[in-house]
Amino acid sequence: MKKTRLIPVSQPSLIGNEKQYVIQCLDDNWISSQGRFIEEFEEEFRQFCGVRNAITCSNGTAALHLALLGLGVGPGDEVVVPTLSYVATANAVTYCGARPVFVDSERNTWNIDPGALEGTLTPRTKAIIAVHTYGCPADMGAIMSLAEQRGIYVIEDAAEAHGAEYRGQRAGSLGHVATFSFYGNKIISTGEGGMVTTDDDSLAKRIRQTKGQGMDPKRRYWFPVVGYNYRMTNIQAAIGLAQLENAEWHVRRRIEIAEEYKKQLAGVPDLVFQANPPDRRNVYWMTSVVVDPGARVSRDQLQEGLARAGIETRPFFYPLHSLPIYRDCGLGQAFPIAEGLAANGINLPSFAELSSDDLAFISKTIVAMHDTRIESPLPRKPS
Ligand SMILES: *Cc1c(COP(=O)(O)O)cnc(C)c1O
Repeated sequence: MKKTRLIPVSQPSLIGNEKQYVIQCLDDNWISSQGRFIEEFEEEFRQFCGVRNAITCSNGTAALHLALLGLGVGPGDEVVVPTLSYVATANAVTYCGARPVFVDSERNTWNIDPGALEGTLTPRTKAIIAVHTYGCPADMGAIMSLAEQRGIYVIEDAAEAHGAEYRGQRAGSLGHVATFSFYGNKIISTGEGGMVTTDDDSLAKRIRQTKGQGMDPKRRYWFPVVGYNYRMTNIQAAIGLAQLENAEWHVRRRIEIAEEYKKQLAGVPDLVFQANPPDRRNVYWMTSVVVDPGARVSRDQLQEGLARAGIETRPFFYPLHSLPIYRDCGLGQAFPIAEGLAANGINLPSFAELSSDDLAFISKTIVAMHDTRIESPLPRKPS
C-alpha cells in the first residue's frame, strides 16, 4: 500500500527569531526562570492584550489555577464553567477544592450560553470561567453584566483565543482576569507555557507571589503563604517573544484558513461552521465543523474517510459533565446543545503553515465523500 503523508491537525510555526533567541539563552547561560526574555515577553504580551499586567507561568492550566487562587476561590465555592471545554478548565477549579458547575453552550458560537448561566448561580458561586472556544470570544457583555449584578468574578479562559476581540477589545482584557496557554498547538506557542493577564494590580501581585512558591518579594526565603512553582523558563519566554513579534501573522493565518475552508466547503450540505458574530473577531484557533446529525456522511464517517486520505482530524471535547470524574457537577441540568456539538463536531487541520494545496486537498476529499455517498451509500459502521 502506498504510504501517504499525514497532514496533522496542528503544528507550531517557528518562522521568526525563535532559534536565535534560544541560542542567546544558551550562550548567556540564562536557561532558568530569570532573564531578559521573561520580562520582554511579559511586557510585549501585556501590550498585545491591552492590559496593565501580564504574568508568565508554566502552562495554561497553571494560569487558570493561579487566577482562581488569586481571586480567593477555595473549598465550599462554586465556579461556573462551560461543559464544552477542555478538561483543564474544570480541573483548575477542583485543584482549589472548589466545585465546577457546568453550563450548556450556545448553538451558533459553541460558547457558554449566558441565557443558561443565570440558572446555575447560587449563593456559593464565586466566579464564572468564560472560555473563548476555538477562538470565538464568549458573549462577554452579557456575562459581565450578570456577574456585576451578582458580585461574581469573571475569568476569561483565552487559551484558544490569542488576538481575538469582543467589541474592539482584546481577549485577555475583557474580564477581571484572563488566562492563556502556549502549548504546542496554540496560536502562539512556547512549547509548554502560560500567561495570566489582569488590570488589577493587587491581584497581579498575589499571582506573582503564588507562582514563585509564595515567597515574600521583599524578604528572601520568607513564605507568608503556601505557593507553587509555576514559573516559566527564559528559554520558553525566548520562543514566546519571537512568536509574539509575528503575532499578527499567526492570528491572520488562522483566520485566512477558516475563510478558505468556508469558501471551498460552501457547497457541502450539512456542515456548519462556528459563528463569527459581527461584534467579535473570531481567530479560529481550529477551523471546526459540526455535521448535521441527519447528514448522509456522519461525523465518524467523515473522520474515517479523511484518515484514510492521510488527513488528521480531532473530535470535539467530550462535554465535561459526561466524564465520570465530573458526574456530580451538572446540578441536574440537561445539556442538549453541548451534547449535540460534541457528538457531531470535528477540528480540521488548521495550523498557520498549512499550504493552500493541502487545504484544497482536504476540502476536495470532503466534497468527494459527499458526492460518492449520493450514488453508492457505504454501509454504516455498526455502533
Ligand atoms: C489548552 C487549553 C488549556 C490548558 O492549557 P495547557 O497549557 O495545556 O495547560 C486550558 N483551557 C483551554 C480551553 C485550552 O484549550
